[in-house]
Amino acid sequence: MKKVVVAVGNHFMSSIVNEKSNENRMTCWTCDENLSNDFFCSHCDSVQPLKENTSVFHYLGFEKTYSIDLAMLEKKYFDWQMRVHPDKFIGRSDEEKAVASSHSAFVNQAYKILKDSYLRAEHLLIDKGENIGHVSEFDAILLEEVMEKQELLVTLDKKEAIQDFMEREQNKINDLENELSLHFASDDFDAVRRVLKFLKYSNKLLEDARKQEKKISSSH
Ligand SMILES: [Zn+2]
Repeated sequence: MKKVVVAVGNHFMSSIVNEKSNENRMTCWTCDENLSNDFFCSHCDSVQPLKENTSVFHYLGFEKTYSIDLAMLEKKYFDWQMRVHPDKFIGRSDEEKAVASSHSAFVNQAYKILKDSYLRAEHLLIDKGENIGHVSEFDAILLEEVMEKQELLVTLDKKEAIQDFMEREQNKINDLENELSLHFASDDFDAVRRVLKFLKYSNKLLEDARKQEKKISSSH
């Protein structure tokens, strides 16, 4: 693997390129020159059609790791959006406009996945060829804990009490995210899958609590 730096507007985006891709090097679909990266032609500046199974990590210039710099994610998302904005393709062929538009949709999707700790972990498992099947498996202890919390939540009718509930759940989510980071670092994918189950329910509880808080605020 080698690292290449790709100019995007006035910014620079680093991408990982597999050395092996040199063997069957791709050429630009518009000018036919050799491509030095997967997404843009350095000769004619045209955006390249998206390949199937493009990794969202690779796409936004990240290595395949769980811990990513979220400020950097925002920046790279913004760079991509600017780069494939419809305004930049006025006067270009319909074909190229369609390619740019598919990038525009993909960059939104990639951003959404990488920003969310649960989805990011799930996609990292997929990228590493690991199954995510265990995540949805039944877990009696977890289910009991979740049901207890849900029962507690519906009895809360004060904004402050719900906010305390949300703070506790957010702290738990932070702990789970730290655990995920450690388990990914040691390639312990069974532990990752176990933590993901808890993270899924904690996210759901937090979402339910937000709805509950909204309901109470609007009824007063
Ligand atoms: Zn070209």
